[in-house]
Amino acid sequence: MRATVMDGTRLAESIKEMLTEKVAALRERKVKPCLATILAGDNISSHKYVDLKRKDCAKVGIDSRKYEFPESVSGEDIIATIEELNKDLSVHGILLQLPLPSHINPYRVIESISPNKDVDGLHPYNMGRLLVGDYGFETSLLPCTPKGIMRLLLHYKVEMKGKCAVIINRSNLVGKPLYKLLLDRDTSLITCHSKTRDIFIYTRMADILVSAVGQRPTFSITEDMVKEGAVVVDAGISHLEGRFQGDVHFDEVLEKASFITPMPGGVGPMTRAILLENTVRAAKNQTGL
Ligand code: NAP
Repeated sequence: MRATVMDGTRLAESIKEMLTEKVAALRERKVKPCLATILAGDNISSHKYVDLKRKDCAKVGIDSRKYEFPESVSGEDIIATIEELNKDLSVHGILLQLPLPSHINPYRVIESISPNKDVDGLHPYNMGRLLVGDYGFETSLLPCTPKGIMRLLLHYKVEMKGKCAVIINRSNLVGKPLYKLLLDRDTSLITCHSKTRDIFIYTRMADILVSAVGQRPTFSITEDMVKEGAVVVDAGISHLEGRFQGDVHFDEVLEKASFITPMPGGVGPMTRAILLENTVRAAKNQTGL
């Protein structure tokens, strides 16, 4: 079997085209969707990610404002800025770039973001609504990577009902929300992590296998870990041999899976597109348009 490649770049482009039209329509009605980005510290990757996100915003007509703090900033100072942004009617989304400097408790800072402006979907209120099932897939602010993965699966008409899904990741950003989104599509789930023994036992059971580890060469998904005909989603990012690589040995798994995401060009562009979608959604929800 040779898998169909799930093209995240192409799907993300079509989402962005749609968003460009939606943003233009909002602007005509005097609503200018705006994302505030908050970045603390000198992490080079974080700076790069925020720049990319702001460029993405500009491409679809979303305004963005950048707030930067030194590594030594206190959590209280970031929270004070967030509280101002919560009140600012011209700001619709607040993106807190993680990780924060290690002396700051990220939970307290995330909690200070107004749930209506929580475009990463990480506020406990939004996470809680997802957990209890009180959310709309299109209308709520859901975490970007899990929603992006779901969008790919839905776009490629992957059958989920009654299937076994295995997620290798248990973070708030990826594994936990994805678990609930897949559960709500009637899959049965297994979560694996760094303490899981004999992980191949679980991966070989997966009709849908999602790997988001990012620890190559220590961890990777080889062909013998994958069930024939499985749907394989690779969200991991490792910097290896001078380039970015996913968790999955793409060329060999391609021959065994039914669907597979490439890396790059799979989950990454979808995550970025969903952030834009969430910002537009937040603007619509806040203005009632
Ligand atoms: P994280 O919080 O560090 O989560 C990594 C997960 O992998 C944890 O659950 C960890 O287990 C598990 N893990 C680590 N080593 C393992 C091993 N040897 N075997 C099995 N599981 C192992 O990071 P994250 O924020 O969720 O991100 C995970 C990866 O996805 C990273 O590579 C990140 O760059 C990537 N990512 C990509 C996108 C995108 O848009 N493409 C978006 C978000 C994240 P423990 O919980 O036991 O530590």
